[in-house]
Amino acid sequence: MNDIERAIELFENCDTVTFTVTGCGEESYQTIEFENVVEALEKQIARKAVNRCAAFTIAQCPHCNGTISFHHKYCHWCGQKLDWSEVENG
Ligand SMILES: [Zn+2]
Repeated sequence: MNDIERAIELFENCDTVTFTVTGCGEESYQTIEFENVVEALEKQIARKAVNRCAAFTIAQCPHCNGTISFHHKYCHWCGQKLDWSEVENG
C-alpha cells in the first residue's frame, strides 16, 4: 500500500480534515471537505487507459470515459492519472 492509498483509507471515515500548510511562506490551516479529497487522491493513483484503438493513438479514460491521446500522463478532462505501462511493456 502506498502513501496515497493509506491516506484514502484514513480519510474515508472522516467528513472534514484540517491540514497544516507549510513551506509556502506563512504557516496556515485549511479545512477541506473530505469527499473531495478522497476523489482527488484517487485520481493520483494511475489507472490503465481503456479501449485503446489498434493504432494506439487514442484511448478512453477509465474515470470519465473521455477520449485521451496516447501517452498523456493525465486525463485532460478529469485529471485522472493514467497508466500506459501495458503498452510500453508489450
Ligand atoms: Zn478522465
